[in-house]
Amino acid sequence: MTSLLEVSGVSKTFDGFRAINDLSIQISEPELRAIIGPNGAGKTTFMDIVTGKTKPDTGRVLWGARNESLLGLSEAAIANKGIGRKFQKPTVFEDQTVWANLNMALRNKRGPFAVLFHRKTGEDEARISQIASEIGLTDQLSRMSGELSHGQKQWLEIGMLLAQDPRLLLVDEPAAGMTAEEREKTTDILRHAALTRAVVVVEHDMEFVRRLNCKVTVLHEGHVLAEGTLDHVTADSTVIDVYLGR
Ligand code: ADP
Repeated sequence: MTSLLEVSGVSKTFDGFRAINDLSIQISEPELRAIIGPNGAGKTTFMDIVTGKTKPDTGRVLWGARNESLLGLSEAAIANKGIGRKFQKPTVFEDQTVWANLNMALRNKRGPFAVLFHRKTGEDEARISQIASEIGLTDQLSRMSGELSHGQKQWLEIGMLLAQDPRLLLVDEPAAGMTAEEREKTTDILRHAALTRAVVVVEHDMEFVRRLNCKVTVLHEGHVLAEGTLDHVTADSTVIDVYLGR
């Protein structure tokens, strides 16, 4: 395991309100990490800073073995480094098949000309089959994406991100709105994806985080309150105070 992302001493103030306060988080490659914390803890702002959507006031965001700074890079340039982000709501092309969605994502990785000049290759087919299997949609490849269940759409979008082969995948509340069965399958998908890359999951659902069975970082008021196994952090009195609002 080597360090992939190092956020250190980062702060961000919005209109005088300090949303991120001297935040330091380090993510390894590969790794599965859950980031939890009450509403307003700074989880979304953290992801916005990593993906370049929000520029921090102070601090460092370093990437890869060469400790390259991501600050000052555009969102597109950061995405090109290999950082994928999954927002809460699934965004798939509903009037296209599952296969076509995965194919588009795969071609997108190859650049604009690959999208324009369609030419099927055996390699692409194999990759699409492999991803479909990883997201549990092998038997849905010819279905219209709009017909999928909410959970299946979320998996498809994860698959579309995997097609881009990110080194770091940021996933925002994947379990929201899912059935218990779908949640369980989602943990399998994320755990599998994290065998070969870094996957950071922001999640409210504690039962889901327990199933992820990974290192947990608790954010509060834009700062790391506790870090470790879920059992470790939930036994921490400061975490209990924050969650129970004491
Ligand atoms: P979380 O995702 O953990 O719920 P956020 O990162 O969304 O927390 O927000 C942290 C704090 O920063 C909140 O109090 C939120 O209102 C504030 N905040 C986030 N983005 C902005 C913004 N663009 N302008 C003003 N305040 C913001």
